Amino acid sequence: MKLFTVGPVEMLDEIKKVGGEQVPYFRTQEFSNLMLESDELLRCFMNAGEGAKSIYLTASGTAAMEATIMNCLTKKDNVLIVDGGTFGHRFVEICKMHEIPHEILRLSFGEKLTQEHFVPFSHSKVTAVLINIDETSTGQLYDVNIVKEFCEKENAYLIVDSISSFLCDPYDMKKNGIDVTIISSQKGLCIAPGLSIVVLSKRMVEDRIIKNQVKSIYFDFKTYLKDFERGQTPYTPCVGICLQMYKALKVIESIGLEKYLDDIKCKAEDFRKRIESLSVYIPDYPLTNSVTPVFFDQDIAYEVFLALKNKYAMTVNPTGGVLSKKVIRVAHIGATTIEDNKILVNAIKEIVESYNTMK
Ligand SMILES: *Cc1c(COP(=O)(O)O)cnc(C)c1O
Repeated sequence: MKLFTVGPVEMLDEIKKVGGEQVPYFRTQEFSNLMLESDELLRCFMNAGEGAKSIYLTASGTAAMEATIMNCLTKKDNVLIVDGGTFGHRFVEICKMHEIPHEILRLSFGEKLTQEHFVPFSHSKVTAVLINIDETSTGQLYDVNIVKEFCEKENAYLIVDSISSFLCDPYDMKKNGIDVTIISSQKGLCIAPGLSIVVLSKRMVEDRIIKNQVKSIYFDFKTYLKDFERGQTPYTPCVGICLQMYKALKVIESIGLEKYLDDIKCKAEDFRKRIESLSVYIPDYPLTNSVTPVFFDQDIAYEVFLALKNKYAMTVNPTGGVLSKKVIRVAHIGATTIEDNKILVNAIKEIVESYNTMK
């Protein structure tokens, strides 16, 4: 089975090898060193800026989103949430649950985020913006410059879920004034699920994390900050996945981040060019390199997903909700190649043709 999914993704052989090894005991200097070295690389790849601190959570990405809101925001905030799909909407649900005052910038499907969208919110004393820089459910890569400008003007914190964009698209915390970056192991890092990371700017740590009282034992960042000074976490981490992370970061370091990102971009562009030969549609808003949404004329998307998986041993992302019959999403991260693109597009072509002859 070959995975063309955003997460878990098709993993490199080197990573699978690490996954097959004995998980070591972790309260040791050796494990601390490995975590500290990984963290150095990770913060370097996102240009986290001086004094930035990372929180390593054994949890899925949603837990990191929720923990971020619990630790970084309070009931005195007025948060602006960009809700342009499933994951933006999840931020709304989390803020509701934790009674964080919020306003919603809602995008309809296919709508591109522009500067004008922010105009109505420029007088409402926004204290923080929450955005999924790639809204994975649509593949739209929002223009970080627009959000950055708004946050600077409003003096608001910028909190970014970059789960399907970091290590897929260029990403720079310092340049873009980003205060929080949320990532998760199974997406951009291309390793097994289970590890999520929150990287905090110096000012977020000093203004908020240190001062906020969090009503949670597991998710209180203060204990994580303290323990990570020596490369440890307060509770048992997903040790095996941490080892995979180390390997993944070392692989990217040896390739060079820029070349690594370029290769993903090439794979994405190659796929988009090939799929154009079929009667399908790709949205015209800016797309992330990590995934391409493919729209079919007929209501066959879910059937295409099933046929690919069951007859061709290739898995793509189906789409949830109202678009499930219309859209599949094809990922370009992980151990897939241009050659795999050819095979995948041919398979999709055969499936679509078989539907057309049935008609
Ligand atoms: C995958 C993803 C998440 C987290 O999902 P989990 O299933 O909780 O890991 C959050 N945000 C975005 C943009 C994602 O792509």
